[in-house]
Amino acid sequence: MWSRIEDAAKHCLCTFGYHELRLPIIESTALFERGVGDGTDIVEKEMFNIDSRDGEPLSLRPEGTASCVRAALQHGLAFNRVARLWYQGPMFRYERPQKGRYRQFEQIGTEAFGISKPALDAELIDINHQLFTSLALDGHITLRINTIGSLPERRAYTEALQKHLDSNRDTLDADSLRRLQTNPLRILDSKHAETRKVIARAPKMHSFLSDDSKHHFDQVLECLQALSIGFELDPYLVRGLDYYTHTVFEFETEALGAQGTVSAGGRYDGLVETLGGRPTPAAGFAIGLDRLVLLYQAVHTETEEVAACSNLVYCVAADEASLRHLMPIANQLRRDLAHTTVVVDTLGGKLATQMRRADREGARWAIIVGESERAEGVLTLKPMREVGEQARLTYDALVLRLLEDHG
Ligand code: ATP
Ligand code: MG
Repeated sequence: MWSRIEDAAKHCLCTFGYHELRLPIIESTALFERGVGDGTDIVEKEMFNIDSRDGEPLSLRPEGTASCVRAALQHGLAFNRVARLWYQGPMFRYERPQKGRYRQFEQIGTEAFGISKPALDAELIDINHQLFTSLALDGHITLRINTIGSLPERRAYTEALQKHLDSNRDTLDADSLRRLQTNPLRILDSKHAETRKVIARAPKMHSFLSDDSKHHFDQVLECLQALSIGFELDPYLVRGLDYYTHTVFEFETEALGAQGTVSAGGRYDGLVETLGGRPTPAAGFAIGLDRLVLLYQAVHTETEEVAACSNLVYCVAADEASLRHLMPIANQLRRDLAHTTVVVDTLGGKLATQMRRADREGARWAIIVGESERAEGVLTLKPMREVGEQARLTYDALVLRLLEDHG
């Protein structure tokens, strides 16, 4: 299931013209402090830090964006040109483990550099949408979207919000009180009921946006409409990371309980400069693969699972000599039948026992070889899923029969 989902994601990214970047798992702690931001949950309390021999503080990567920007700068990948990149692999955060939230988890993410136009924001959302559709999950995931404006607009808004929240500090929960100094924007997605009431009366980001910022966001939404991608506007959607500007989005499901965010992303035009590069527009997203797999499991039933790997041919030999005869034939089948898995029963034993294993593996066909098949130069082909008659066939006739069945 993991492979199928990863393959679908890689295929999708490839068809959109994104290129793979392999990033190290360990980077300098300073990269994440600067790139992710001091006031974020990640840097404040979720990093796994390592003491290196030469005293340079290192961390297991908690996310991929900062590393991606570091690599792009170091190797000139985005210098005066557009770069569309993706990465995949484990991320590490010191969290309280529970369903959908682990200390080591997998992300697949993209970063696109050099495009400031709103069509890119829509493209990133479209990639998610195409992937979820190809996995038949689109009916179970909703897109929420918001804009947090340019950096100065966002700063002005954050200040106004901070003032409002501060004058209501008696009503705020402990977590929000702590964030009031470090990351007030993040209070907007607090789940605490009393805090939510204070937030409902708070100033809205929208009134702090310039015409340019509003125009950017409107164009993103128009692109989404042209792509027939449904969305929910959520004025309280913010991202926990400091570098976001303009469009922010999340894909969410109700099927996984509290850990329902499957993918999150947006634009972060300020980050490349923060990490020492020239001002470069950038945007990206990260999909939490663990949650996507959980969702896939929740939505797709076992029968579909069997159907998906139904092109399985299970080879059974009646004795040791027949097994040695069958193994090179299985290799020939693997070469001749592109979309077929060929499993040889190497445990042996009674034919009936081997046939039970074939059934348990979900085989569509069994190939049986014993002394008489070897003597006649044929193979017995037995349908396992009521897809035809049992027959003794030459190798060529057997290949034709299987090609007819599943190409
Ligand atoms: P959350 O609010 O759930 O903590 P986040 O804002 O910390 O999420 P991001 O940093 O945006 O998450 O990471 C992108 C995606 O990676 C998330 O939407 C989620 O699917 C996945 N993810 C993040 N942290 C974890 C984790 N500890 N375990 C599993 N998946 C995770
Ligand atoms: Mg988190």
